[in-house]
Amino acid sequence: MDQLPANSTHSSDGKPTAGNRTAEAAAEQNEGRIKRLLVNLLPPATVVAVVMFWAFAPQAVLDNPWTLVIAIAATVAFVLALEWVFERHAGWRMTWTEFATDFFYVILSFTVIAWVTEALAEAPLRAAKASLGISTEWLMTLPFLVQAAIVVFLIEFGQYWMHRVMHNSHPFWLTHAPHHHITQLNAMKGYVGNPIELFLISLSVVALLDFDTAAIFCALNVLAVVSTYAHANVRANPPLLYSFFFTTIRHHSLHHSTDYESTRCNYANSLILIDRVLGTYREGESAIVGQDERKRLSIWEQFMFPFQPMIDRIKAKSNQTTHKAH
Ligand SMILES: [Zn+2]
Ligand SMILES: [Zn+2]
Repeated sequence: MDQLPANSTHSSDGKPTAGNRTAEAAAEQNEGRIKRLLVNLLPPATVVAVVMFWAFAPQAVLDNPWTLVIAIAATVAFVLALEWVFERHAGWRMTWTEFATDFFYVILSFTVIAWVTEALAEAPLRAAKASLGISTEWLMTLPFLVQAAIVVFLIEFGQYWMHRVMHNSHPFWLTHAPHHHITQLNAMKGYVGNPIELFLISLSVVALLDFDTAAIFCALNVLAVVSTYAHANVRANPPLLYSFFFTTIRHHSLHHSTDYESTRCNYANSLILIDRVLGTYREGESAIVGQDERKRLSIWEQFMFPFQPMIDRIKAKSNQTTHKAH
């Protein structure tokens, strides 16, 4: 009997043998496994790249106020491109309507919401810091990574509680519900919501403390990357080393479940560790997202949502008075 060389893929008559077919299938499976692993490593790799950028970029680049905006925009564009190549659910595929709405909210967040937050929160906090003589300059002597980690924690801890209140108090829920009316998840969906909610969720105590500006920008960029992936239609399931600490699409899609009760878990936008420690973590994921029979709201409806019960009451009252008059 002729012995085939171990690396041969075909028999002597050129046809693949059963054994070789198994070897080919195993090689293909192996290739699939490696590809899957690489896709799963995309979120942690992006976070590492972002941290390296802020730690080692030239001073002139770090000092430019546009650097943070460009860096966040670039990471969002990168994740949008990944949605195209490594789609998670066909039902979440980007349409022009979704893209236009999401893009509107990204611009709104970087302009109006940012200006209002600066005027109503950041500037008053800085003034309070100065008049109360709060000085924490020792924070600036800490290593860059430690400073960035503290900023990530401070922002996330505040957001966690604000978000949890929004799911447990009706007036606050009215501002947050529009974010839960989105019927698919995409890279820019983290920016979509009623403007009151977007303002409330942007509040933090960081302005009261002294940190290296690059460390603050690094933290903001990392938070943006993690929450972008946590909303993105990308087939990445990062390893536990990442998903134990950072929120993934699995955690956050479960938070976007169609029944209200199932949304009351996994509140941390980026640092899921907080949910794990405070007992609000839940395992699982959801491919179908939305609220109220998955009713998609227009931008106008999203803006008016918190005032709708009041408007309905006024309308009902005026209807009653017209009926009485007749
Ligand atoms: Zn929520
Ligand atoms: Zn969300």
